[in-house]
This record gives sequence, C-alpha cells and structure tokens, in this order.
Amino acid sequence: MTDEKTATQEKTTAAAIRPGPLPPGSRIGILGGGQLGRMIVLAAARLGYRAHVFCPSSDEPALQVVEARTVASYDDWAAIDAFADAVDVVTFEFENVPSTVVERIGARVPTRPGWKTLHIAQNRLREKDFLRGIGVPTADYREITGIDGLQRAIRDLGTPAVFKSAAYGYDGKGQVLIKSDTDLREAWATMGAELGILETFVDFETEISVIVARGLDGRMAAYDPVENWHANHILDTTIAPARIASRLTMQAEAMARHIAEALELVGLVAVEMFVARDGRLIVNELAPRPHNSGHWTIDACVTSQFEQIVRAVCGLPLGATERHSDATMKNLIGDEVADWLKILSEPGAKLHLYGKAHARPGRKMGHVTRLTPKR
Ligand code: AMP
Repeated sequence: MTDEKTATQEKTTAAAIRPGPLPPGSRIGILGGGQLGRMIVLAAARLGYRAHVFCPSSDEPALQVVEARTVASYDDWAAIDAFADAVDVVTFEFENVPSTVVERIGARVPTRPGWKTLHIAQNRLREKDFLRGIGVPTADYREITGIDGLQRAIRDLGTPAVFKSAAYGYDGKGQVLIKSDTDLREAWATMGAELGILETFVDFETEISVIVARGLDGRMAAYDPVENWHANHILDTTIAPARIASRLTMQAEAMARHIAEALELVGLVAVEMFVARDGRLIVNELAPRPHNSGHWTIDACVTSQFEQIVRAVCGLPLGATERHSDATMKNLIGDEVADWLKILSEPGAKLHLYGKAHARPGRKMGHVTRLTPKR
C-alpha cells in the first residue's frame, strides 16, 4: 500500500512537472461505459494505448472491448481513488458523471477535460450563463424553481417556449414544449426536477453541430459543421458537411473554437447550434466529449473524433480533421438494428454495432455511415 501511494505521488508530481505526451502503453481511464467509451477504447488500442473503464453497471458496451474495468458506483470513493491510481490520465464519455468525482480524481491524476468544464456542461443554466458571459448567442432563458416562477417566465418570454430540466437531460428527456394553452402543472410534473430552465422556442431552419478538439498546447482542430435531424428528440441522421452558406460554416467553426478556448479545454467539445430562420446561429448545448454527430468521422476523415480525443488527452499532436468523403450517418435506434444483414450487403455502407443485447425503443444500438464523393 505504501509503495502504491509513493508510485501515485511520483506519477502525479511527474505529470504536474512534465505535462508532455503520454507514450503509447500509457493507461487512459474513461468514466462511463457506453458506446462512446467503447469507440474511445478501440481508437486508443489502435494507437497502442491501454484503457480502463469505470462505470456503474457490468452490462455496458465499452466493457466488452476493454482490458481493465472498475464496476462501481460514482459515490464509491475507494473505487474511484483506486481507479485514478491505476491510470495515467482520465477522461469521460458522458455528462452525468458527478463533477465532484472528476474533481477528486484530478487531485491524483490529470483529468482532461477538467471538472470545471464538466460542471458547466452538465447544467443547462450554468451552460447558458457561461455562453452568454463569453458573448455567444443562446435562446433567451429563465431559471425556474416552481410553478409561480414558470408562469412569470412565460409572461416574460411568451409562447411557444421550451421547458427543460436544468440537469440530467439528454435526448429530449425532461423536456416540454409550452404553448399558450399548455397546462403548466402538467408541464411542471413532466419536467420532473426541482430546477428547470425555460427557453424561448427558436424557429430554426436546421440544427447543426461542430466538434472541435483542443490539445495540451492550446492548438485546435475543428471538423466540418454537420446537419443533424432528430426523430422523437433523438438524433436520427447526420449529414456531413452541413448544407449551409459558407459564411455560416465559418461562423460556426469560429464560435466552437472560441468556446473551447474559453473553457481552456483539453479534449473535445461538440457545440450544438440552431440555424435560425433569420440566419443567426444560436448555441443550444455543449457536450465536452465525443458526440453522436461525429460518428461519421470514423469513416470519412483522416482522424476520427475518437482518435482525436485520445490524441488530445494524451498530449499528442492533434490529427488532421479533413474529410476525404461526404457522409450520411444514420443511427440504428431500437428495432432498426434488425436491418443489420441488409446493411452489410449494401456496397459503401459501413456498419457499426455497439454490442447491446436488447433493442428497446429509443435505444441507440449502432449506426451506419454511407459515403459519397466529396463535393
Ligand atoms: P436538447 O436536449 O436541448 O438537445 O434538445 C433536444 C431537441 O429539442 C433539440 O435538438 C431541438 O430539436 C429541440 N429544442 C431544444 N431546445 C429548443 C429551443 N429552445 N427551440 C426550439 N427547439 C428546441
């Protein structure tokens, strides 16, 4: 135990003094065991890195492909400390890991991104306050702590408006569209949390996202903005590149870089934006990790978003983000995965399955990327 402690202290001190590249063979710790974690593990392995996944359930896609695992809950501090001591750097693959966990790990081993970035991104109010604070446009919004406040905010912002839980929201969960005749008590119950956010409804033409990576040396690399189409609030299809004016492409990329810099990010951030009908770009959400709308990069870019996060967190030079092909990525949600054999016989279709045993409605089972020549 004493030896382990000494080794940890040496590792932490060495990392603090010499934040250079972690060589292949180093261990990347990943908080979360979903498909994003699985694809990080696979990309890490391709570059000769080893991975260790920490997640609360043993039935997770990343655990099927990883060398080392810790299956424990996020409040098991002993397991969290042992995990931190077993790896050289830690990253996360989803936002709902408590930021206190990342903060604690950060005292023992570098965490990239850091806990502050996670803390901002895991709460829609903090996220919007941060974006406004750095001059990035968002929908107008109000913090909501009860029905009276909701009524006041609706008088203020008008309808339609979107009412969301401030935390733990994803894929449209905890979200209600409020119209002039909506029963607010019902809306409050559907939102289902203590703290909510009311946002003005953005009349948008398209939803786009930009993924930007930032390395340890502050250099950045952005992927082309892509177009995202949702079904039942879940991403259904991504079209790369987005079919938008080049002015918007440049603006979107500049905004994403500005956000990554302001976060002092080391890692990836996906910035989801609306292209409003009046031509403005409005940021909806940040995800400081690989993103579903970046899966196309595996098959259409020189460096995939998963290789890129490995490069960023290990302090390596970032890879080229150019696309060699245009791409359409279709998520296989629930029963859509039953088409796997048909997809495999389709020329030019690249199938990715996540190893999930049961296809429940709304569950992301895999995706297929179809390439076309670059426009
Ligand atoms: P979110 O959970 O914030 O990513 O929202 C899920 C989806 O709901 C978005 O991708 C949009 O299609 C829609 N949505 C969320 N917020 C707004 C808004 N303020 N105005 C219009 N549509 C929205």
